[in-house]
Amino acid sequence: MTDIVVLGSTNMDLVTYVEKAPQRGETVTGREFRTIPGGKGANQAIAAARAGGDVSMIGAVGNDAFGTRLRSTLEHSGVDTDDLRTVEGPSGTAHIVVDDEGGNAIVVIPGANGTLDHLSPGDEGVIASADLLLLQLEIPLPAVVAGAQAARRHGVRTVLTPSPAQPLPDELLIAVDLLVPNEHEATTLTGRTDPREAAIGLLDLVPEVVVTLGAAGSLYVARGADPVTVPAPKVAPVDTTGAGDTFVGALAVARGEGRPMREALAWAAAAAALSVQREGASASMPYRPEIEARYA
Ligand code: ATP
Repeated sequence: MTDIVVLGSTNMDLVTYVEKAPQRGETVTGREFRTIPGGKGANQAIAAARAGGDVSMIGAVGNDAFGTRLRSTLEHSGVDTDDLRTVEGPSGTAHIVVDDEGGNAIVVIPGANGTLDHLSPGDEGVIASADLLLLQLEIPLPAVVAGAQAARRHGVRTVLTPSPAQPLPDELLIAVDLLVPNEHEATTLTGRTDPREAAIGLLDLVPEVVVTLGAAGSLYVARGADPVTVPAPKVAPVDTTGAGDTFVGALAVARGEGRPMREALAWAAAAAALSVQREGASASMPYRPEIEARYA
């Protein structure tokens, strides 16, 4: 079993569905309200655990009802939460208004995630015992850097999803093995709009890059090797939220099991294709037997 540690965010998504989002000063009646557990860290942890990884989550939730639910959602999918702290104050929340055209407006309040600006004493040992460390950028950067450096010290491979896109410091990049941006993030990081050019540009920063291309699949580049494009299965998408996190979680499991990159990318694409055919982010993530059946 691949031993995976995720260091990252947990959020409760507070989603309001409305015909048309209100303008400033306006009040409208919406159609529906849902609370949906999320955060890129938690989503990747759930994706990897369902894909068959042995997953631990380092993160923080608040001492509120959202925190209790976020923890139990992770545990329900088999994620070890021994290193998920409960801190004084609110959990992270994302306030999302979705209109009938599928457009959205989002305000994120970091809450407990904002307290994660350093590693705690036991974290380095947890990272050291893993095969892979998964990182994103929804917690304070100093903790992301510290996690990557701890992984590097112990020979643990590091996968970074550079989301939300922002300039990446050298001290982080030097400790990252694989960068997995989507097209938008690849462009933001390099200023290049062509995904292949952007991916190749990113090889100046890290040794391996996978750019996810939505329905078009993914593009893999590595120093000294030819680029590889792996298509996504053709499916009718229902909700693509969390597709990127499903892809990364499954990719990590497959790589940890020693599958060659091309095969691992196809396996991750099978997992993500299953998730886009169902509603929700973590709720739509497939379990291993479903991925195997879709991949076969
Ligand atoms: P999200 O923000 O929605 O989680 P993302 O922008 O991070 O996603 P994408 O590049 O859109 O990432 O998608 C990640 C992966 O999910 C793709 O590489 C692909 O394998 C799969 N995927 C996404 N959309 C589709 C689709 N319409 N059909 C099939 N597979 C898809």
